[in-house]
Amino acid sequence: MNERYSRQVLFPGIGKDGQAKISEKHVLIIGAGALGSGNAEVLTRAGVGRITIIDRDYVEASNLQRQQLYTEEDVAEKLPKAAAAEKRLHAINSDVEIRAIIGDANPELLEELVTGVDVMIDATDNFETRMAMNDVSQKYKVPWIYGACVGSFGMSFSIIPGKTPCLNCLLRSIPLQGMTCDTGGIISPAVQMVIAHQTAEALKMLAEDWEAVRTSFVSFDLWRNQYTSLKMSKAKFASCLSCGEERTYPYLDQENMTKTTVLCGRDTVQIRPSSAGEISLERLAGQLSSLGYTVKGNPYLVSVEMGPERMVIFQDGRALIHGTKDLTHAKSIYQRILG
Ligand SMILES: [Zn+2]
Repeated sequence: MNERYSRQVLFPGIGKDGQAKISEKHVLIIGAGALGSGNAEVLTRAGVGRITIIDRDYVEASNLQRQQLYTEEDVAEKLPKAAAAEKRLHAINSDVEIRAIIGDANPELLEELVTGVDVMIDATDNFETRMAMNDVSQKYKVPWIYGACVGSFGMSFSIIPGKTPCLNCLLRSIPLQGMTCDTGGIISPAVQMVIAHQTAEALKMLAEDWEAVRTSFVSFDLWRNQYTSLKMSKAKFASCLSCGEERTYPYLDQENMTKTTVLCGRDTVQIRPSSAGEISLERLAGQLSSLGYTVKGNPYLVSVEMGPERMVIFQDGRALIHGTKDLTHAKSIYQRILG
C-alpha cells in the first residue's frame, strides 16, 4: 500500500484490507452539482478504484459558492459539469479511473450504468431521478446513499436492498417530495455535512464493514442547531412496489418520465427529444449564425441568445432554456430552433 493512503490505512475501521477493497470498487455518482462534486472529490482522494459520474448541466457562476470542483475558468468556458469534474478529479488522483457522462440520468441509462457498480450515490436535484435510482438499486441489488439539502438543512439515509426500507417505503412516513431548492437558497456547510454523511457511509460499504453502516435516517439544521436521527427499522412495507414481494419497479417505466421539466431552483426548463440520437453541434452553430443569432459554444454544447431567453443545446439533442419557467413557451422556443 503506498504512502498516499497511509492515514486511511492507519484508521482501524479501514486498515490494509479495507483499503485494498476500496481500491477495487466502483462507485456511480448521479449528479455533479454541490453534492456530486464533493462526494466525487472525497472518494477520489480516498482511492476508490473507479468512479462514474453523470450530470446534465454546465458550470455557471452561481455554482462556485458551493460546488467545490469548479473554477472561474470552467464558468468562462461553459464547461459541462461532468467534463470539468473529470479533468479536476484526474488531476487530484490519476490512479482512479474516472468516467464522466454528460447527459440525463434517465432510467434506461441508469440500468445500463449500474452493471459492476458497488455503491450508488444520490447527488441529484430532483425526485424523479431519485426514485429511478431507488428502483435500479432494488432491481440490481446495489446499495445507494440518499442525500439532499436546502438552506441550512440536510438529510441522508443508506439504502441496502434486502436489508433496509427503500426510499419508496420511506415516503409513507417522511414527506421527502416537499424538499425543493427553489426558495430558501443554500449555504455550503449544509452541503458539506451531507457529503460527510454520504461519503462516510460509502467508505464503510466499500471497505465492506457492513456492521458499521448507519441504519437511521439522519437530518440536521446547521443554522438552528438541530440534529435528528430516526430509526427506520419499521418503515419497510411488504406491499412496496419498489422493494416488496410483488414489486413492479414503477419508476423504471420510461413512460412515467416527463420529457419537459423545470429545473430545480432556476428559471430554466429542460427539454429532452422524443427520439435519441446525436446532433452535429458544429452544423447547428453554423446554421444559427447564418440566421443572425448570437451563438457561442464548445465541443460539448451550443449556446444561443434569443431575446430574453437563452437556449443551450447538448450533443444528445437535449436543451436547457434559460429565462423561463413556462413549459409551453419553452417548447415553442425549442421547436423554433430544433423543430
Ligand atoms: Zn420499499
